[in-house]
Amino acid sequence: ATPTSIMVGTGRGAENGILFKGGEYLEGTQGIEAVLLDKTGTITEGRPRVTDVKTISGDGKDFAYIAAAEKRSEHPLAEAVVAYATEQGIEVDQPASFEAITGHGVQASIEESNVLVGTRKLLTEQSIDVSGAENDLRQFEEEGKTAVLAAIDGQLRFVIAIADTVKSTSKEAIDHLQKDAIDVYMMTGDNTRTAKAVAREVGIPEENVIAEVLPQHKADQVEKLQKEGKKVAMVGDGINDAPALAIADIGMAIGTGTDVAIEAADVTLVGGDLTNIPKAIKLSKKTMRNIR
Ligand code: ADP
Ligand code: MG
Repeated sequence: ATPTSIMVGTGRGAENGILFKGGEYLEGTQGIEAVLLDKTGTITEGRPRVTDVKTISGDGKDFAYIAAAEKRSEHPLAEAVVAYATEQGIEVDQPASFEAITGHGVQASIEESNVLVGTRKLLTEQSIDVSGAENDLRQFEEEGKTAVLAAIDGQLRFVIAIADTVKSTSKEAIDHLQKDAIDVYMMTGDNTRTAKAVAREVGIPEENVIAEVLPQHKADQVEKLQKEGKKVAMVGDGINDAPALAIADIGMAIGTGTDVAIEAADVTLVGGDLTNIPKAIKLSKKTMRNIR
């Protein structure tokens, strides 16, 4: 590889919002056979908002407890719940105690009440009956929304539907990669039904959806594809994605994502437009051709 052609290539990437951390990553990007895309914040905008609240039992005061439980969480879903409550004119207090349960939700104590907000698993593990939520869960999830359950003192109270918009260029980017014979996967901590609905929208086949992945297991999924002999690129934006970005043959971070993801990655996609993935691969091939 001549240093000049590498310099020209990285420069051209930078002009297009593709920042390679070094020449070796520009070289390494060619020949990628599988691309794993995180869902929230990578395929989607990452600005979730509450669209529906189904009340199973309870009132505005109960919803204020739910929002208070989310107040100290830094999860985007939590921010959506707090923003919604505030928009409804509900005052959201600080919880007396709070615990984030990674990949599942939050548990908090508010005025001596025990509040749980998160996945069905979070609630059922504490023996809470969630059968009253099944129909709403199914409906919201089939719409590609994340359905969050909320309980107070062991009673299911609300089903909260949260939606995030798919980026306008995600489908085009995925089509392009697939036309170049690259396998595209979606990986997410979100539930399977929601993930599959979003995958359908962007043209990722159902069998390439890896859902309900705990943060500590995202890197294992990259390794699994590598063990099948594939050269893997991982694309993500979150703190959760950092180990997977680091272990992938090429890690690509969304420029609007967390600093931790950007540090762990080899390439930064400045504007977060996924069409820069096939562009980066093309640039790499072109650079390598010129130097042979
Ligand atoms: P991802 O960021 O990939 O969607 P996470 O591992 O952060 O996945 O979360 C997985 C799931 O756990 C979410 O889809 C949601 O159902 C639940 N969850 C996590 N944190 C919260 C929270 N603060 N409030 C409500 N639900 C949560
Ligand atoms: Mg994400």
